[in-house]
Amino acid sequence: MQTVRDISAPADAEERRSKPAVVVYPNETLPPAGMDKLQAARQSMIKVAEIIVPPREAGSFRVPKGHFFRIVSMEGSQVGDLNLWNADDLSERFFSGKTRALHATHVGVGDRLWSSLPYLRPMATITHDTLGWYGWDKDGAGVHDVIGTRCDPYTNRLLKGGDYHHCCHSNLSRALASEMNMPVQEAEMHVHDVLNVFMCTGFTHDTHQYFMKASPVRPGDFIEFFAEIDLLGALSACPGGDCGSGHSSDAAPCYPLSVEIWRPHPESLAGRSFPERNAYPRTHGL
Ligand SMILES: [Zn+2]
Repeated sequence: MQTVRDISAPADAEERRSKPAVVVYPNETLPPAGMDKLQAARQSMIKVAEIIVPPREAGSFRVPKGHFFRIVSMEGSQVGDLNLWNADDLSERFFSGKTRALHATHVGVGDRLWSSLPYLRPMATITHDTLGWYGWDKDGAGVHDVIGTRCDPYTNRLLKGGDYHHCCHSNLSRALASEMNMPVQEAEMHVHDVLNVFMCTGFTHDTHQYFMKASPVRPGDFIEFFAEIDLLGALSACPGGDCGSGHSSDAAPCYPLSVEIWRPHPESLAGRSFPERNAYPRTHGL
């Protein structure tokens, strides 16, 4: 592999490197999330449903527009891989890459989970996070990343050989297949890059490789979202457990996660508008 040592730097290398960093997507002009109203609405909410996601498995759930949902750590430190779809149209799904570009590598309260093109609208808004204190650690790591993809059996076979069927990709595929009553091979085409709930990750300083470290999540911790559209979700309790050592095997201790659905008093959201799909006419210059 070519390294920087193989290429001698030009005379103006430092001048070229010294250009200012420009944020690609200044997000001050995004439609406001209306956090004051959401924070007020959550004071009135009551829990209306709960599903338990077993370790090394996934579960599916539905959240009506205007409800909240929480992903809760139950028994031990456990990472969850989250997929979201428009409940009425699987082609509109969570867009990890654009969420990363619009917000940051890791998301927190006030950030939104955006949907795929050509829809590109908020699917959910993060309204509470008991791990909000974590911030950035000395390794540059944070929690709840939108940089990883999901552990999958294809990459596992590529790197290690052999087949492991309880990777998050397969767990999510089985959960969606069951929810939609479709073959698992059809369901997996709808599985997409995830929000890595509770996962603690970053990039190494020297080689800029994606790394993980043991999640700081503890039983009772939760992250909470407001559903901006009718949602179908699937959550996998990653076989990596707290993702402090490995994944894609049965080696790590794993724990269940719960998903709770909460309904606020309808009047608490009076006057709040919900996002329409993106208004670009899709003519693409023709
Ligand atoms: Zn996983």
